[in-house]
Amino acid sequence: MYTDCAQGHSTVRVSGTNEDEFVKNVQDHLRKVHSGMPLPARADIVKMAKQG
Ligand SMILES: [Zn+2]
Repeated sequence: MYTDCAQGHSTVRVSGTNEDEFVKNVQDHLRKVHSGMPLPARADIVKMAKQG
């Protein structure tokens, strides 16, 4: 699963081989690149996931 983030930067693909890894990698991306944004709830991160 993956999501493409392009908020305030050129497109970055954040992916994971399973839900736990995906959520962790999205949280890492948000903390590093979007440190001013509150972290979304896990359920909202999972909703961003695309299969592939
Ligand atoms: Zn981003």
